[in-house]
Amino acid sequence: MSPHLKDQKVVVYGLAKSGLAALRLLRARGARVTALDARDEASLGDTARELKAQGVALVTGPTPPGLLESQDLVVVSPGVPLALPEIQRARAAGVPVWGEVELAWRFLSHLPLVGITGTNGKSTTTALTGELFARSGRRTFVGGNLGRPLGEAALTPSEWEALVVEFSSFQLEGIESLRPRGAALLNLTADHIDRYASHAAYGEAKARIFRYQGEGDFAVVNADDAEVLRLAESARAPVYGFSLTGRPVAERPRLAGLAVARPGGFGFEGVGEAGESFTLGNRALRGAHNAQNAMAAALLARLCGVSHEAVQAGLDGYPGLAHRLESVRVLDGVEWVNDSKATNVDSVLVALRAFERDVLLIAGGKGKGAPYAPMVEAGRGKVKGLLTIGQDADTLAAAYEGQVPVHPCGTLAGAVRRARELAKPGDTILFSPACASYDQFQNFEHRGDTFKRLVEEL
Ligand code: ADP
Repeated sequence: MSPHLKDQKVVVYGLAKSGLAALRLLRARGARVTALDARDEASLGDTARELKAQGVALVTGPTPPGLLESQDLVVVSPGVPLALPEIQRARAAGVPVWGEVELAWRFLSHLPLVGITGTNGKSTTTALTGELFARSGRRTFVGGNLGRPLGEAALTPSEWEALVVEFSSFQLEGIESLRPRGAALLNLTADHIDRYASHAAYGEAKARIFRYQGEGDFAVVNADDAEVLRLAESARAPVYGFSLTGRPVAERPRLAGLAVARPGGFGFEGVGEAGESFTLGNRALRGAHNAQNAMAAALLARLCGVSHEAVQAGLDGYPGLAHRLESVRVLDGVEWVNDSKATNVDSVLVALRAFERDVLLIAGGKGKGAPYAPMVEAGRGKVKGLLTIGQDADTLAAAYEGQVPVHPCGTLAGAVRRARELAKPGDTILFSPACASYDQFQNFEHRGDTFKRLVEEL
């Protein structure tokens, strides 16, 4: 049921992308909106100017006492912790507090929504699932934490037949009726300890994706991850698993069905037609982690009624997301791969698993203090040379000393030039930095785009 918002007093707290989408939606529905942000007006820059030009009441800096308590509704951006005292006070005063996705959902609840969360692989799985749905001919909104906020879909609900949505744990904290037809929890590793009191609290936030599911819905989880399986016990809907290990579904009594990796693809047990299987030959989906993402996406799509043919066509045609093991070019038999999104050592481990041998690795940047030894270990027999850039070059070089030749290059341009000289046909040049980009670039996208431009210019 769409909420009645006309002339209601609503505060939107947090004025980044999601908050602004909520604000547009609320104004389109006739609410009397106050925009609130803890930053001052100067830091809000253009946003503040535009809101004022549109006649929106804008409050910046510390939240005035009593403001939230006097509203009919408070909508919070994912960046604003629900534990803030003023939000707690509003709740205690009986004011509903919704996340931006909950607000959007109130206008979209007639549509099938697929929700995807986890520590890693959310964006890939969301984009891929969107592709599988699109191949079935459904008008599919793909967004949420990735790309366009869900509030944008809610501005034009009649445009859509399906919603494929990435959720961060912060967004899931703000739901109170959002009910995914299919909900996937991909994995759980240490992350966001800054905002959560404990790892358990982080897991519980993620498991909220199952909370409002009911009859006819389903859950999809990583069946190789004990903690994820445990969290899925709270799901009311049947739980389907995906697995790299191949243990059959008969040995997994809690699962209604399973996707299992096999050489060159994966098969289904207890889902779709008997013996249903898929091939996985798309370069944009190489690596065991992407096999997991592909199995999750295929389960979500098939269980929502997307045909086998459409799923296979989507797996084959998925273009991949930029900066995640992105194949840039094959030049003289050498493949250049942009993995600029790998801002930590764990991501490099994932990347290295996708290659067999003859890798020249370009890495470095603003280090995060984690040891590089696991990278050296994971690359043994695969990485045949290291080209370093950026601030942490010496620390990286020290970790690789005596293992493989190290070529200090300083800049990315220098590393690309040197890699071109060193590479032989059949080699892969992998730019997977293991570091943040801020010492030499604005962000990982800028860094990856720079790499691609340099490689295209060769
Ligand atoms: P997210 O949106 O959760 O950050 P992405 O799809 O953007 O996830 O992938 C980010 C990085 O996480 C990738 O570059 C890769 O290193 C790693 N990754 C992707 N999928 C998985 C997975 N299923 N399991 C573990 N790590 C993954």
